Amino acid sequence: MNELASSTDVFVIGGGPAGLSAAIAARSRGLDVTVADCAVPPVDKACGEGVMPDGVEAARSLGFDLREAGGHPFRGIRFCDGQTSVAASFPAGEGLGIRRTVLHQMMVDRAVQAGVRLAWGARVSGISPEGVVANDRLVRARWIVGADGGHSPVRRWAGLDACRHDSRRFGFRRHYRLAPQSEFMEIHWGDSCQIYITPVSAEEVCVVLISRDQRLRLDDALEQFGAVRRRLAGAAFSLERGGITASRRLRAVYRGNVALIGDASGSVDAVTGEGLCLLFQKSVALARALESGDLSRYQAEHRRIGRRPEFMADMMLLLDRRNSLRHRAIRAMAERPRLFARMLAMHVGQLAPADFVANGLALGWQMLTL
Ligand SMILES: Cc1cc2nc3c(=O)[nH]c(=O)nc-3n(C[C@H](O)[C@H](O)[C@H](O)COP(=O)(O)OP(=O)(O)OC[C@H]3O[C@@H](n4cnc5c(N)ncnc54)[C@H](O)[C@@H]3O)c2cc1C
Repeated sequence: MNELASSTDVFVIGGGPAGLSAAIAARSRGLDVTVADCAVPPVDKACGEGVMPDGVEAARSLGFDLREAGGHPFRGIRFCDGQTSVAASFPAGEGLGIRRTVLHQMMVDRAVQAGVRLAWGARVSGISPEGVVANDRLVRARWIVGADGGHSPVRRWAGLDACRHDSRRFGFRRHYRLAPQSEFMEIHWGDSCQIYITPVSAEEVCVVLISRDQRLRLDDALEQFGAVRRRLAGAAFSLERGGITASRRLRAVYRGNVALIGDASGSVDAVTGEGLCLLFQKSVALARALESGDLSRYQAEHRRIGRRPEFMADMMLLLDRRNSLRHRAIRAMAERPRLFARMLAMHVGQLAPADFVANGLALGWQMLTL
């Protein structure tokens, strides 16, 4: 279906991962759903392409098994900081590296199966209490969902731009034709930047650079990362694709009959690898609120779901800003890998906050006694 009806229960603006998962979740609750996106699938985007085990699980609760689309599993995370490295497996489940275009096509197919009305190449130019202006005509809608990404015009139109927190970094991604040499997703820490490597197939890895310097490119940054540079040398690679990763927390994610989801509703820094997981989880919460007719429930759930990833993102960004603290913390965890394993368990929602506090104290002590 590639058309706009004259009216719908839920009009979703943006057919990226957030718009599609919100649409699938709303449709599963019996609502009539339309998605409009100015692009045509499969849509590509700069992304590290790693989904943590909690994200794989959250996608399953929306009715799709990401592993069926292909991709490449990874069993944990490795931090590398100069000569020091520490790795840990996820306590349960596996992460999945999956090409963005493959993920998008899978979600489009799932939305079609679910009976979502999809309008590609349709630009939305405004909203009103009655509905949405798409391709210059009004489509009446009871609910409007803004899933139009980090720059979200819907957020502005609805007057939801006010932030509790807002900072940005810049990401650049390339694919290298190279067999993954590790069962882990790797984060290589440098001074003021990180390179992370996600296996996305048996013969391809996704390499992302993230920094606060919008002029810094992968080739320049690789000068700092000798081991990574040697590993990638000679492998064919794709064009570099860039994007902005924001740490953004909004004061409110709904107003009247308009709700925001995905990066439009705020985001955590890309280095966490939690963007997709969050939008899958929040889509389920949004669908529940739409069904009940009470978007304040969504706002509360949105905040609850975001709390742990936001906290973990703050910790990782502290390691980005404070080199000596990072060297010490990673050395301490390399000496006692169990501390890192528990940190990772917290990251993917498999450790109770009280145990995390105890782990933090043990890490602090280990750092002091290095
Ligand atoms: C460098 C980088 C690396 C990342 N790495 C990871 C990672 O490893 N793991 C992870 O989980 N997350 C990662 N993320 C985060 C993740 O990519 C995002 O959270 C996710 O893409 C957000 O999806 P979205 O649907 O909200 O937005 P988008 O994917 O931006 O989709 C928005 C859609 O809205 C459409 N649109 C916009 N305006 C209009 C309009 N007026 N009318 C119609 N359509 C419109 C656009 O065409 C687009 O298709 C990374 C992000 C960056 C920048």
